[in-house]
Amino acid sequence: MDKNTLLQLAKDIIAGNAPEIETCKTLASIPEHDAFTLLPGADMIRNHYFGKTVHLCNICNGKSGRCTENCTFCSQSKFSQTDVPVYPLLSKEKLQEGALYAAEAPVNRYSIVTSGKRLSKKEVEAVAEAFSELDSDKVSYCASLGILDQEDFETLKAAGVSRYHHNLETAESFFKNICNTHTYQERVDTIMAAKAAGLSVCAGGIFGIGETDLQILELALALRDLDVDAVPINFLVPIKGTPLENHSGLTPLRCLKIIALFRYILPNKDIFICGGRTANLKSLHPMVFYAGASGIMTGNYLTTTGQTLQQDLEIVDQLGFTTK
Ligand code: SF4
Repeated sequence: MDKNTLLQLAKDIIAGNAPEIETCKTLASIPEHDAFTLLPGADMIRNHYFGKTVHLCNICNGKSGRCTENCTFCSQSKFSQTDVPVYPLLSKEKLQEGALYAAEAPVNRYSIVTSGKRLSKKEVEAVAEAFSELDSDKVSYCASLGILDQEDFETLKAAGVSRYHHNLETAESFFKNICNTHTYQERVDTIMAAKAAGLSVCAGGIFGIGETDLQILELALALRDLDVDAVPINFLVPIKGTPLENHSGLTPLRCLKIIALFRYILPNKDIFICGGRTANLKSLHPMVFYAGASGIMTGNYLTTTGQTLQQDLEIVDQLGFTTK
């Protein structure tokens, strides 16, 4: 596909015509050294839906380590030998700190993220109590507490949480390669339960874990079918002591290609670039917006460090974008 064909495709997508599956496969198969041909169309679609505004979110690692699950990319799994901090659910005051910071900064969303298959009911109530004391006028709230049920989601919603984050992580056809302590279907069911409780949903995945181009497409199409509201894209940062410690299949161009593909498939969804942004995109990381991203996670990630808010704001400003 040349640039003109891709620009026409972008115009068709903006006009409401989703690409045929064969076109999607062609997009997914574009070699990464041609990634830049995807960018003008992806940028056109992003600009149509989001204009010059980019969204920022920040997170707090509310409970860290000793997870019973065996996700191969994760340093918090008890099956990995890493030196990530291990601590139980933080105090209410600690959970609230990031929200108070976000409220005074140009940050749109603050999320409390916890390790483990799911928080206990008591812990969900503690997180809900922390949120319930916060003012949601200046910042919106999101939670990522594992495989919860509808009752938990209703508790969180009543406390002021508007969005639940739960990644599919990867394509269904690849999921067993990265985790076999829970199933892909459990993740889908969690997303459905969050939606049923009236929460918006943030769900995406992690790339560079051994998936193929077509499995990247498979994930994008699954998220489209689930009609999630926001899509976080994470790029693997191999961590010593995890099964993927020596894995490095990503290049900056491959990362841009993945972002652009997601923008063509999920034209009006908020696409956030999260973990592994600077580590994998290196000097190309400001290009994420031109590849179709409408937002970034700022500050530190769960177990790896990111850029400071000030550094991200400078880039956003230099590129001519604005924040809230
Ligand atoms: S990704 Fe989540 S569920 Fe999987 S091991 Fe890490 S903390 Fe546990």
